[in-house]
Amino acid sequence: MPADDKTPADIATAAREALVRVVRGAAAYHLNACVRCGLCGESCHIYRADPTPENLPAAKAAKVASHYRRYCTLVGRYLPRLVGARDFTSAALEELVEAVYGRCTGCGRCGLHCSIGLDVAAIIRAGRHVLASIGMVPDGLQRTVSNQLETGNQMAIPRDELLSTAEWLSEDLKLERGDEAARVYVDQPGQRILYLVNPREVKFFPLSLMAAAGVFHAAGERWTMSSKFYDVTNYGFYSGDDDAARELTRRVMEEARALGVQEVILSECGHGFRSFRWEGPNWLGQEYPLPVRSVLELLEEYLAAGRIKVDPAKNSARVTLHDPCNLVRWGGVSEPQRRVLHQVVQDFVEMTPNRQDNFCCGGGGGMLSMSEYGDRRVASGATKAEQIRATGASIVATPCHNCADQLLELSKRYKLGVEIQAVVELVYSALL
Ligand code: SF4
Ligand code: SF4
Repeated sequence: MPADDKTPADIATAAREALVRVVRGAAAYHLNACVRCGLCGESCHIYRADPTPENLPAAKAAKVASHYRRYCTLVGRYLPRLVGARDFTSAALEELVEAVYGRCTGCGRCGLHCSIGLDVAAIIRAGRHVLASIGMVPDGLQRTVSNQLETGNQMAIPRDELLSTAEWLSEDLKLERGDEAARVYVDQPGQRILYLVNPREVKFFPLSLMAAAGVFHAAGERWTMSSKFYDVTNYGFYSGDDDAARELTRRVMEEARALGVQEVILSECGHGFRSFRWEGPNWLGQEYPLPVRSVLELLEEYLAAGRIKVDPAKNSARVTLHDPCNLVRWGGVSEPQRRVLHQVVQDFVEMTPNRQDNFCCGGGGGMLSMSEYGDRRVASGATKAEQIRATGASIVATPCHNCADQLLELSKRYKLGVEIQAVVELVYSALL
């Protein structure tokens, strides 16, 4: 929420300045071009679950556009009512919060289906930038950003907890693999790979971290995590705070340099991949000095090179695959996970639609951190739940821990009876 010592006029001025800063060139075209055909509605999982006018993608974008017209167009400046231009009043800003944080995950599916190709998600994102710049990020989301900045990870997990988790996972792994070298490596300089994970793996899903460690061991990989900066997520990206997003990226790259690794590998995380792989160099204003890849690409490479041997019969249950929006539609990684799954499971079936056209599960956009929108988030997963049910699968391979949290909740709410597993867990179970 805005600082108490600011007057509404100060806040409106700061919002206007931020809007002018973030809306340039093509974005301005997108803000002005909607022809209100309404075709984007059915492509949005939130609108499909609750088809009220406020949930239409075009209506959410229109909230941002109304301010653009007010401050950035001639007619909006002098005849605002004529073009539906609105001032940044307190009420209008609250409505904007609701539209861009509470009714949109930034999944980008509506942009694929827009009759004139408008990038609605980019418009929504411009709205988030404006609100972040005046301190109007919803509390839960802002707390997550602050955790990352203050402690190095979004869940504020103390370093000792990470180290003790790594220790007991290593003990279990040594027993399972029968080799002292099978362990979770932390703060080991000079390794080939720096591995970033979602802190939820440390706190709630340690088996996915153990599975990755087991696969790395089987492949003879040299790898390490950093106890300071191991978080693959970037909640500054979600909140619209580019300064925070840049700082989180900078720290990881600095840590990679300090540890002397040759490559950064990102564990299964949709927005973590998009923000670190694609947005990071823009935030830093330079190319990375070393490659950054998804662990899915590495798993495919291990299989292709024969560095790991697998038997798909070890995964005999039917498996389907969820496509996280930020990894697939935005991040361009759609095939490595499929080529891997075809080799490690016996009965793989696609959801319909899939790949770039897949539906958002409802857990993206930082939704999981904003409890005030929890009911809407779970309701918005109805389309995804039906997609899953139609496959008859009992396991949903899910290369994103945010999506995994949401899918677990959907499985309970919609009585799907499915297990959610990371791709690396299925690879680990198939190891010979
Ligand atoms: S980006 Fe996704 S959630 Fe947002 S309006 Fe478009 S389809 Fe809906
Ligand atoms: S499909 Fe495109 S042009 Fe039509 S209402 Fe939606 S955003 Fe506007």
